[in-house]
Amino acid sequence: MFCPFCRHDETKVIDSRASEEGSIRRRRECLDCGRRFTTYEKVEQAPIKVIKKDGTRVPFDPARIRSGLEKACYKRPVSNEQIDHIIYSVEAEIYDQFEREVPSRHIGEKVFDMLREIDQVSFVRFASVYREFKDVNDFVEELGPMLKGSPK
Ligand SMILES: [Zn+2]
Repeated sequence: MFCPFCRHDETKVIDSRASEEGSIRRRRECLDCGRRFTTYEKVEQAPIKVIKKDGTRVPFDPARIRSGLEKACYKRPVSNEQIDHIIYSVEAEIYDQFEREVPSRHIGEKVFDMLREIDQVSFVRFASVYREFKDVNDFVEELGPMLKGSPK
């Protein structure tokens, strides 16, 4: 990303939010001249990559989070609006904090945090699928601290 004023190629993102469908509005500051400018970036043109546990990269796909959430929230008191809200928030945060690649674990943690506030059962279901626990001990070990931190 080049600064439109001085053509320096390092900029810092100071604010970003999803605007029209598929586009991210970013407020940037040039690291050289310090001037600020706004960019509208098409998600399709610069898809963020997710770094999976084994090191492989796949394009970030909110639909995958949605299908995981829908399974976890099946027959639970979680509305579509709440699911949309989680996905939207996670997406906004990823584009806010990462420019090219995001560890899959980071996405999972963010979804955990939000889902835990909404419904404990869905949260545990989501966590158990997402983490691919090898056995029940791993499950308890990893989930323990998260459950302790829960509001109820
Ligand atoms: Zn500049």
